[in-house]
Amino acid sequence: MPTLEAVLADITTLHVDAIVNAANTKLKGGGGVDGAIHRAAGKAELLAATAPLGGCATGDAKATPGFRLPATWIFHAVGPVWSVSRGGEAAMQKADRLLASCYHRCMELAREHGCRSIAFPAISTGVYRFPPERAARFAVQSVRDQLAGSGVERVIFCCFSEATARLYRSLLDQ
Ligand code: ADP
Repeated sequence: MPTLEAVLADITTLHVDAIVNAANTKLKGGGGVDGAIHRAAGKAELLAATAPLGGCATGDAKATPGFRLPATWIFHAVGPVWSVSRGGEAAMQKADRLLASCYHRCMELAREHGCRSIAFPAISTGVYRFPPERAARFAVQSVRDQLAGSGVERVIFCCFSEATARLYRSLLDQ
């Protein structure tokens, strides 16, 4: 049985086959987890690897090597910005679908790259302002939906705060 766990950590320190980056559409680096990953992997190497990829659409993910990270691969996923003030329920559902799609695409990349372990940050819950509880539900559900036949044996939800870790633990216990 594959294991799913919540871990309180800096994702750049994890020894897994792939870590996921909460990237932006330009794939040129940024703040938050993206900045931490660029610094730890090696900025120049990572920017050289993402330059030919032509950016990444929201809801999609693209792979690069991990360079100086303990992780072999980085899957750069672009989550939705939570800006539903004008779009109402339809905009929220669109954001939900795009967030679920990030996790889905990363599980596909994990299968394609033969990864047995993968660590996800809480995509979109930082500067992109997606509500953390709602994001965690979509994260856990999408990963569970994609596990069968993926070859992935260990999934880490890498949390950067104790509050986020508590959210994931309660969902994983259900
Ligand atoms: P987004 O733009 O997708 O919202 P952020 O990087 O702003 O991305 O935040 C996404 C999540 O990653 C937040 O929950 C933030 O606390 C967390 N985070 C920031 N740095 C790290 C890190 N080094 N390791 C793991 N998670 C991190």
